[in-house]
Amino acid sequence: MNCSNCRFFPFRKNFVNYFNQKSIHEECGVLGIYCPENGHSISRKIYYGLIALQHRGQESAGISMHSNQHISGYKALGLVYNVFSDRIINGLLGRVGIGHVRYSTTSVSSIENAQPFNCQLPKGEFSIAFNGTLTNFIDLQKRYSDQYSFKTSTDTEVIVYILSKYIQETGYDYFEAIKLVMNELQGAYSITLVNNKGELFGFRDPLGFKPLCIGTIEDIDTKVIASESVALDIINAKLERDIKPGEIVMINDNGLESKIALKNSRKATCMFEYVYFARPDSIFNGKTIYDVREKLGIELAKTSLVDADYVVPIPDSGRTAAAGFSKESGIPLCEGLMKNRYVHRTFIMPGQQQREISVRMKLNAVKSKIKGKDIILFDDSIVRSTTARNIISLLKKSGAGKIHFRVSCPPIVDSCYMGIDFPSSQQLIAATHTIEEIRKKIGADSLVYQSLDGLIRSIGLKENQLCLACLTGKYPLDLIDKETLEKELNIERNIN
Ligand code: SF4
Repeated sequence: MNCSNCRFFPFRKNFVNYFNQKSIHEECGVLGIYCPENGHSISRKIYYGLIALQHRGQESAGISMHSNQHISGYKALGLVYNVFSDRIINGLLGRVGIGHVRYSTTSVSSIENAQPFNCQLPKGEFSIAFNGTLTNFIDLQKRYSDQYSFKTSTDTEVIVYILSKYIQETGYDYFEAIKLVMNELQGAYSITLVNNKGELFGFRDPLGFKPLCIGTIEDIDTKVIASESVALDIINAKLERDIKPGEIVMINDNGLESKIALKNSRKATCMFEYVYFARPDSIFNGKTIYDVREKLGIELAKTSLVDADYVVPIPDSGRTAAAGFSKESGIPLCEGLMKNRYVHRTFIMPGQQQREISVRMKLNAVKSKIKGKDIILFDDSIVRSTTARNIISLLKKSGAGKIHFRVSCPPIVDSCYMGIDFPSSQQLIAATHTIEEIRKKIGADSLVYQSLDGLIRSIGLKENQLCLACLTGKYPLDLIDKETLEKELNIERNIN
């Protein structure tokens, strides 16, 4: 196969530019909707679903629609609200489509990186929305380098290329092509795909790192596939189930068909979805994220109680666990820190200096509440420690007494190669410092992290059903090229 067999559109020029970027790892949100009845246009439903998934990616948003045996769409940089006007949504016609919100870990923000990606083949076309990171993309590139000239070391380029190759080799049998692709991919992926036949697919890696669920809008018998169940709630769809790890789901005019393409008794649900990333009102593996976070706080109250006047959450990430701690300990919860909601999460801000400024822009203390009070301060995790240090400094300057810091996640000591934007391990504070050193560095009077057992108990899944690699260094898959992955990570995170 040569590249002339695989033509990417409608941003062909941009597509080439995209692959001239450095390796990109991302945490994103994906969505797909299939309505069986003609005359419905579901782009507005995709738009609402993407708004519900906005926390999974703020850099760009896009929608691809199937209509008249073609795929067309729109994508741009910015929040979903900013990207899509009424006019654009009204112009996106069709009863089958997919959507994507992107969260970039690089400092490069460009339209070329926005998804969904469209691919035009000699006898068809498709569009995919991808959430995850492949850990064997370097190996795959080497395997196919005599057939296709890869422009960069990006996993998305690898997926689109291999998919397009198998789609053609199987005579445009997408089910079979996806199965063949999944045999070759290693890492985390939750993907939605729409093709020019108007078929909608959702598929997930065999370890199930990232969430992907399916639901139904009952009155119009419409199927919805989404990264999180909150995207179903907003459009009145009822959650049916998670798409199983290793499963491919296809929805077309004949209904829903499902195949388990890959089986693995080991699962590796990302613990960080429960701790921080997913919305508290989402349900994943049958567990409401809110309930898990509340249990994390209860666990900590059982093991790390101290005398204090208030439990103060760092908004919004520490709020639910702090409520659990307060409930268990009887120490009142106090919203002693207020958040400016228009500043993004600090660990996606580029550059150390920018991150420090962003903490000050983001939070302010309610001085009348915390002055002279001893507080138990709550957050979900400590990554570099900049946020914790700056917030404790802010609270002390505002007159707080003792500050006891409680962290609902155990210490993060290793990198994530499966799509969460942690820095490389050298930049993770817990990888290079003891807990006592971290306590001194952030200026807390005491510091207690969640235990690994407490985390596992709170999530309620067995240890071999979870990925805990960034906490334990034990990765649930063979990292064929860990050294190169780490090098790539270092290059990217140093850009930030
Ligand atoms: S390494 Fe950590 S953040 Fe990455 S997938 Fe595993 S649990 Fe999630």
